[in-house]
Amino acid sequence: MTYESVAAADPAVAEALEGERRRQNETLAMIASENHASEAVLAAQGCALTNKYAEGYPGERYYAGCEYADEVEELAIERAEELWGAEHVNVQPHSGSQANMSVYLAMLDPGDKILSLDLTHGGHLSHGHPANFAGQTYEVEQYEVDEETGYVDYEGLAETAESFDPDIIVSGYSAYPREVEWERIQAVADDVDAYHLADIAHITGLVAAGVHSSPVGVADFVTGSTHKTIRAGRGGIVMCDEEHADAIDAAVFPGAQGGPAMHNVAGKAVGFGEALSSDFRAYAEQTVKNAQALGERLQEHGFSLVSGGTDNHLLLVDLRPSHPDTTGKTVESALESVGIVLNANTVPGETRSAFDPSGVRIGTPGVTTRGFTESTCREVADLIARVVEDPESEETRATVASRVDELTDEYPLYD
Ligand SMILES: *Cc1c(COP(=O)(O)O)cnc(C)c1O
Repeated sequence: MTYESVAAADPAVAEALEGERRRQNETLAMIASENHASEAVLAAQGCALTNKYAEGYPGERYYAGCEYADEVEELAIERAEELWGAEHVNVQPHSGSQANMSVYLAMLDPGDKILSLDLTHGGHLSHGHPANFAGQTYEVEQYEVDEETGYVDYEGLAETAESFDPDIIVSGYSAYPREVEWERIQAVADDVDAYHLADIAHITGLVAAGVHSSPVGVADFVTGSTHKTIRAGRGGIVMCDEEHADAIDAAVFPGAQGGPAMHNVAGKAVGFGEALSSDFRAYAEQTVKNAQALGERLQEHGFSLVSGGTDNHLLLVDLRPSHPDTTGKTVESALESVGIVLNANTVPGETRSAFDPSGVRIGTPGVTTRGFTESTCREVADLIARVVEDPESEETRATVASRVDELTDEYPLYD
């Protein structure tokens, strides 16, 4: 029993918490935006700082009693600056979406123009979807990936920028398996005199480890989530040059948020400390190798990958060429039933709905944290292929589920 004090006070909640811990232990987390933070990060997030009001920034708080809050936030900031090489880092955003919101609030006026990647092509809600505050506050135009190649259509982006004349161009994506060419997008931003926000939410860890090129020092603003490839617990960050530091800090607090979630800032500090180790670099490299091994094996099984492969931690499978009658949701639920948890995803040139799209997105950050290597990932590809070939077969499901059980036992996660 991990949550003894919760169980004593509240058995119903404790049971759900134990259940979630067991679920993570016993299944393969292959949702590309997920990972497993260390026990140290989890413990830091459960600390007494959750009680503390620390509006403001280290050394200039609006409340008394902030000496330990200051220490923790300073450690998080120093480590982030070292990890990503940024001049200024704000570690207070509650999430990646709020990090983006803060950049918009700092640099744009309502009605200003955002140019971002279409959501069904791999963009993110916070880049200006009509259902998001950004889409409701700013004028939004979208660029796309080339449907033939699956790569960002950089020429199309330049043309759209020319005609739309955006105030900010957003790069960095949620379902894009290829290296992003930051300099190329920066050149477009320079041409049309727009700011450039590089949202590295998914690839924070890969960029920190030097496994993916960095937009820091290229783009004006870099935002990220801290719970994805970086494993530092749930939250967000914003990075920029000194020039924009005050504007960003004021946009995070009081612009977009009140008191910082200092327990999560503590989690970030611990997770960033872990990421400064050489172990983390090896982890990030392995994450990419695992995605590539998984992708190659899926191709051997006849699956079609958007862009033909991956440079990062994720794969986007387009089911239409190989399995025209099978939808992403069918695959998602069949695989969930055997303990392989991933998500249905739209693909470029989507012909179905966002609720039941034609693709699935598969990520390796979580299984790499467990210790999976290329050979284990090739086997996972074999298991996925077996289930997708025959999603209704009870027998197949039972065989695959028992192999997933063995793998999760062999590569344990939490005690
Ligand atoms: C995950 C993600 C975010 C932020 O997500 P939160 O859930 O708000 O932390 C922002 N941008 C992109 C591209 C993402 O993939």
